[in-house]
Amino acid sequence: MNTTNPSTPSARKLVRMLKSSKKISKLIPWYMLKTKINEYIPWKKSAWITSSLPVELLWGLDIWPLHPENNACISGARKVSLDLIEHAESLGFSRDVCSYMKTNVGAYDKKISIKMGGIAKPDFVVTAGTICDTHVKWFQTQARRMDVPIYVFDVPHIVNHTSESTKIRYREYIVEQIHDFFDFVETTVGKKINEKYVLEIWRNSARLSDLWQKIYEYRKKIPTPVGYADTLVDIFPLVLLPGIKKCIKYFEDLLKEVEDYVALGKGILPKEEEKYRLMFEGIPMWYRIKFFHQLMNYGAIVTYEPYTFSFGAPRPPVDNLEDGLNVMADHMMHQPYFYNLSDRIAYFKDVIKEYRIDGVLLHENMSCRPSCTGMYDLKNKIQQDLGVPVLLFTCDMNDPRAYGEEQMQTRIEGFMEVLEQSKSR
Ligand code: SF4
Repeated sequence: MNTTNPSTPSARKLVRMLKSSKKISKLIPWYMLKTKINEYIPWKKSAWITSSLPVELLWGLDIWPLHPENNACISGARKVSLDLIEHAESLGFSRDVCSYMKTNVGAYDKKISIKMGGIAKPDFVVTAGTICDTHVKWFQTQARRMDVPIYVFDVPHIVNHTSESTKIRYREYIVEQIHDFFDFVETTVGKKINEKYVLEIWRNSARLSDLWQKIYEYRKKIPTPVGYADTLVDIFPLVLLPGIKKCIKYFEDLLKEVEDYVALGKGILPKEEEKYRLMFEGIPMWYRIKFFHQLMNYGAIVTYEPYTFSFGAPRPPVDNLEDGLNVMADHMMHQPYFYNLSDRIAYFKDVIKEYRIDGVLLHENMSCRPSCTGMYDLKNKIQQDLGVPVLLFTCDMNDPRAYGEEQMQTRIEGFMEVLEQSKSR
């Protein structure tokens, strides 16, 4: 590492991550294999589900979950998303439409392998407009193209000054829809909710989230024992397999390794090399994950991401179905993406203090309005109120055409110089 000029790092570091995180290379293939096997078993049913809906519901109904957004990330990371996006655009989907959606259209039409992000035709799809209207239009379009039934949840948004009595009414409204969804599933594929099983899944899911919160707590340490290379893969069980016992073991091993690191004062980067602790807001550029690894060449490490943190929100314990549905309904209403600006600013300020963040990276994502709304206000508030440098850059999570290699390199180098100056003040 060149310590005199932060813009010209002399050494290239390998991707550094915890040994336990590497075990994801067993868990993901397990899920993929089961997915393939299920396609050939007539009584196994599957559904596409969007983020923001509790996947535990599908598990409790014995429906195998398929997650188009997750598969789209895989296509991005495998660098095949552009071809799929261009296929969707050739069908008339605009350049401005979410690139996850277009990746999914291409992946489905072209029947690419599951390892590349391919996805099978489901028995039905279920979605909600909780995070974005795209989720609804996307699933409606694909349900029509595949000729499968669709269920759409209508989830009210909690905003500033939503009263407690209104929240209760919203919750009841969602619980009513969940019962309606059970009827829909029974009519569509003949499956009924298994109360005992869904509660067990919810308990396991709560345990997984609890472990996630503990792992995150340790990220506050200097040097941080958990980097973004870890959390990017570690969220997989939270997204798709939250109630599965083998995932609990995965997270327990992770936590144990993190505790050992902390006991020894070890970090992902050695303490003397961890110069800048960063927060990254937004969805990562899956086709250019190397961007985050390369930050380490400058002694910079991402130590907090609202995106990965949000998948492990606490799940209160429950011992009967109705209570379970109530907490799931609450869960569906509390999504960080629709925090209003003042709550978001307060949340960021807390994180910056607790995780001792030196700089913030904000990804203004051309695909995703909800994740980048308010970015300029966030940038200004963080800089003005906390004096913490912010780099706001415009890219796209799955469309590499939006990533300017040289421009990004120049901006990162400039940002490292700003961080250096900020720290020496
Ligand atoms: S618009 Fe954003 S939140 Fe909606 S599906 Fe696309 S990436 Fe996800």
